[in-house]
Amino acid sequence: MSILATCLGYPRIGAARELKYALESYWSGKRTAADLLQAGYDLRRRHWSAMKSAGIDHIPVGDFSLYDHMLDAAVMVGAVPQRYQAIADPLTRYFAMARGYQDSKGLDLSALEMTKWFDTNYHFIVPELERTQKFSLNAAKLYAEIEEARRLGIESRPVIIGPVTFLLLSKLQDGKTQDAIPLDLLGDLLPVYKRILHELAEREITWLQIDEPCLVLDLDDRAKAAYRLAYAQLAECPSRPRLLLATYFGALEDNLSVAIQSGCDALHIDLVRHPEQLSALLEVLPSSMCLSLGVVDGRNIWRTNLDVARAMVNRAVLSLGAHRVWVAPSCSLIHVPVDVQSEQKIDADLMSWLAFAEQKLTEVCQLADGGRFDDPIAPHVLASRAMRAAKAQSSRIHDSEVQKRIQGVTEADLHRASPFADRHRVQHARFKLPLFPTTTIGSFPQTGDVRSARAAWRSGRMTAEEYKAFLKKETRVCIEKQEAINLDVLVHGEFERTDMVEYFGEHLKGVAFTEQGWVQSYGSRCVKPPVIFGDVSRSSSMTVEWSTYAQSLTRRPMKGMLTGPVTILQWSFVRDDVPRKDVCRQIALALRDEVADLEQAGLAMIQVDEPAVREGLPLRRAEWRSYLRWAVDAFRLATSGVRDDTQIHTHMCYSEFGDILEAIAEMDADVISIETSRSRMELLGDFIRYQYPNAIGPGVYDIHSPRVPTKEEMANLLVHAGKILPPTRLWVNPDCGLKTRGWPEVQTALINMVGAARVARRQFGEERFG
Ligand code: ZN
Repeated sequence: MSILATCLGYPRIGAARELKYALESYWSGKRTAADLLQAGYDLRRRHWSAMKSAGIDHIPVGDFSLYDHMLDAAVMVGAVPQRYQAIADPLTRYFAMARGYQDSKGLDLSALEMTKWFDTNYHFIVPELERTQKFSLNAAKLYAEIEEARRLGIESRPVIIGPVTFLLLSKLQDGKTQDAIPLDLLGDLLPVYKRILHELAEREITWLQIDEPCLVLDLDDRAKAAYRLAYAQLAECPSRPRLLLATYFGALEDNLSVAIQSGCDALHIDLVRHPEQLSALLEVLPSSMCLSLGVVDGRNIWRTNLDVARAMVNRAVLSLGAHRVWVAPSCSLIHVPVDVQSEQKIDADLMSWLAFAEQKLTEVCQLADGGRFDDPIAPHVLASRAMRAAKAQSSRIHDSEVQKRIQGVTEADLHRASPFADRHRVQHARFKLPLFPTTTIGSFPQTGDVRSARAAWRSGRMTAEEYKAFLKKETRVCIEKQEAINLDVLVHGEFERTDMVEYFGEHLKGVAFTEQGWVQSYGSRCVKPPVIFGDVSRSSSMTVEWSTYAQSLTRRPMKGMLTGPVTILQWSFVRDDVPRKDVCRQIALALRDEVADLEQAGLAMIQVDEPAVREGLPLRRAEWRSYLRWAVDAFRLATSGVRDDTQIHTHMCYSEFGDILEAIAEMDADVISIETSRSRMELLGDFIRYQYPNAIGPGVYDIHSPRVPTKEEMANLLVHAGKILPPTRLWVNPDCGLKTRGWPEVQTALINMVGAARVARRQFGEERFG
């Protein structure tokens, strides 16, 4: 019997983002529900047949989703919060949960919360459960897809989210604390899962994939007990398919015994992230279990080292026998684009290094076919070796100048010349800003005009000169508006940037762009991450021209605006032949040069945004320290080369920072602007507990909603902040960039914000001098 080639999930958005367009035209009323469902079916059919013709033996079904797989799971177990029940049509109700809903009769429902799926850039919908939640089975979608596949001659391996991961990732309607994790509901949920198993057995399904990625996290005893209880019950079901327990994104480590004692019939492990798991597993895997080897990287876009993967397959075959070994991607392929063949502009070298979903499935099949250790070496293995040998030598990748500079980095390069207190003093003397200085985060509204000018320039309808003149005018108007609003520290508005990472990627050596390399971020939203393939350096300055132009238009301080090294790393596909921390350091060095050029050009304040620092945290706490060390060092390397009287700003948003405040303090930015308005400044409590030493601008204006905050409410927030933190170290700003907002609301909100700062100044100024 040969080794099985399997797949945990296929990218559902479509090679040409068909699902995105189908969804958006349905939402805008241009197409009917039937059109949308047909588009979904067309994609599934295409994806199944792609997997079948690649040679995949276990083809996933149920991994497709119109919006999100956790939302599908919530619907499947009947966890639809009461407030959405008012909507009768199931599809409308489904999208109401995903995106909120308003109708002419006054029904106004907010969407469910969304958060990041483990350490990926995919966002899932967080199921919301009541303390007395009752579950009920509603697996119509799954069963319909199984039938569809069957009619097409595809024998499927259905995929569902496991009960424990489902509960661990859900939230209780009325709580956020640790005990509010809804594990207590397990007893009520399990009957629904048992019912699914039974009904799948009736449908003659042989294998069911149950995803339990939470098994790679640090689990407390309660969660481990929940796992034991759940799988003891599921395994004992009298009528059920065979169960594949799927784990990915990390190692089982201390949860290993839970997994192997689960009673499941197969276990999938991620051997790309943690190849060392294999030895441990081969020793302890019960003879009743097959092992699915995740040896092809589902999270990155490089071709697999077939020799390394093949060695792992061979070891498993020697120890377990071929009939107990499967080959698979490390995780679902939704985290990579569909097909590298769609790329027209990538050069042949780089092309030969890349593998998107289609290429990865071919690799899986090659590994399953050529898994026998005594087989002659197959041509694709030889080709893989030749490619790697060429790559190891390629001057596109290896830049001795960059490596020399990296070698030369010293501890002193990671430190500002003087401590914050001294810098604070000289900066105060230089800028003479009032108490509670006001500023914004960087971008101003990217209006339809800006977007159409960019489109016109890209398609050649506008010349580069015309486009540049247009951007200059936008920048000038933006600065005039900021002066009229009376902000103290200005920004240029970022009209020349579509995206804060793409812009820098386009200007850095060692970074490439795809045309069709789309990956789903959430719902219909996709991102096209830059590809960092080689040593990174800067060929020329990236932002100096825009920043100096902007500074020339005003006497007020203008902030130079850069994206930080960790954020560029985090939102890209990163080369896997050197450690991530080394890549991050190279980006930091390139940014350090940019910072120096900005300073040289007269920019006295430079902001280096790091919104992604928190999301880069490893899944296991034991690895946090070392990550935070190199992440903080990269930021410091980028920013520490400046004079004492040059003021370094940073900005962070999107997540809760309470547990990494010490690291944030170590970044030693003179000023940090941070998202707090939605958590009502709770974060400030953490800043006091850690005695955050430098200046902070807690976001007082929530830019995620079109709502205009009043002067009074922002003044209250500032006064509150001024009572718990020294007023001399407080700044006043929105909680993120204003790119997605409209000008009228932004102008009113900022006028109110400047008014609020005046209120706070009066209050604390009098206290200070009175
Ligand atoms: Zn932000």
